[in-house]
Amino acid sequence: MNISYEFLSSVVNTITEHVAVIDHRGMILFVNQRWVEFGIENGQAESKNWIGENYINACDLSASNGDTFGREAAAGIRSVINMERPQFYYEYPCSSPETKPWFLMRVVPFELDGHRFYVISHSNITERKLAEERIQHLSRVDTLTGLANRRYFDEFFAKEWSRCTRAQMPITLAMLDIDYFKYLNDSFGHHSGDDCLKSISNVLSTYAKRPSDICARYGGDEYMIMYGNTTLDEALVQILKLMDAIRKLEIPNPDAPTGPSVTVSIGLSTAYPEMETNEEDLIRAADRLLYAAKDAGRDSVEFENLEW
Ligand code: GH3
Ligand code: MG
Repeated sequence: MNISYEFLSSVVNTITEHVAVIDHRGMILFVNQRWVEFGIENGQAESKNWIGENYINACDLSASNGDTFGREAAAGIRSVINMERPQFYYEYPCSSPETKPWFLMRVVPFELDGHRFYVISHSNITERKLAEERIQHLSRVDTLTGLANRRYFDEFFAKEWSRCTRAQMPITLAMLDIDYFKYLNDSFGHHSGDDCLKSISNVLSTYAKRPSDICARYGGDEYMIMYGNTTLDEALVQILKLMDAIRKLEIPNPDAPTGPSVTVSIGLSTAYPEMETNEEDLIRAADRLLYAAKDAGRDSVEFENLEW
């Protein structure tokens, strides 16, 4: 059975992906209807004739204007044409600021009458990307308080540790634990305990705002704040204000020996990371200082510069 060009192009026109076929120089030999429509949606003239345009040159041109997609796409297409890889897949965000769509570009070769051609297709993967982003967000967040969870804290801290090691910058860690939190739960019930954890989280998040800071719920009533590129003195200023802000919440904890309302104890330690050290050392130091603050009567902070 002979299949006509018209029949094939009508089949390809039913595909919702944008599809073009190019030759080994990048010349466009065929585009489907969706490709034309997408061009119009993105500002191309309705009369534009795509056939004979050089797609690789167009990618090079946008790359020369600083466009990442243009650079990656041109390199990917060339790598398939030069047989450095069998196919090329590239996920990229489109530049529309409102809808922020994501696309997947595929470059797949085929042979006809001894010549190689390349199918370029772009499919909209926004829904999948949004679902992935939601899942990633959920995997990083403590559901009760909305702060980073321990898993994400560990990941972030390890990266910041490496950055501060390379840049020879100080890094400061505060480990914080609510005093006599069990008494609050016992006095008013678990719901009130949860509300207290949320209120304290809100305060903490206002004291860790720079991109190199992170504030996380580390365990039941235990939190971490990590300040990248921050000395002990700088961090201590923040921590003393934070402790005061927590006292001013005046969350009742009538049976606590520390006083009628909720307080916290904090271990604060600063390190200048070196190649053979790791972030566990700073966690251990902050933990030791936290317990010293508890032993010293609570509602207090113990601090030191960590010596290697
Ligand atoms: P300390 O001053 O030594 O820190 O005493 P504490 O009572 O705060 O410490 P302890 O470790 O004895 O008790 C912590 C309590 O926190 C026990 C646990 O039931 C409670 N807790 C842990 N997670 C949650 C939570 O998500 N919600 C509530 N409401 N309570 C929690
Ligand atoms: Mg506690």
